[in-house]
Amino acid sequence: MKPSGVFRKAIRMLTGQNVEMVRRPTPPRPTWLPPRDWTREFIASSAFLSTWQWSKVRYARLQMSDCRCHDCGKGRNDRHEDNSRVVLNVDHIWPRRHYPELCLTVEATRVLCDWCNRGKGNSLPH
Ligand SMILES: [Zn+2]
Repeated sequence: MKPSGVFRKAIRMLTGQNVEMVRRPTPPRPTWLPPRDWTREFIASSAFLSTWQWSKVRYARLQMSDCRCHDCGKGRNDRHEDNSRVVLNVDHIWPRRHYPELCLTVEATRVLCDWCNRGKGNSLPH
């Protein structure tokens, strides 16, 4: 059974982690390996976010997730409780710094809104 949004939020409040991390998921197998000349540092850098490869993966993830936040279900036309606009980010579930081989694997990403993304840093899922 998938935990509800409220439950997920409670776990995050208690542990500072996303429930996916608490459950220690196994990373998927890479479906699209990054180019050989990409270093770990490059993949972890913000320059990675400007590559056409990431744009493709990002777009595919947004389509697969119906442009909605994985945690709260809000879309980009929705508003937060304080009436601010929802900003959607495509997030790497396994941080790029630690799992560079998964940086272009769409199954290793999810859509998070700016609120749900808060507090999730570069921490490992275990
Ligand atoms: Zn959200």
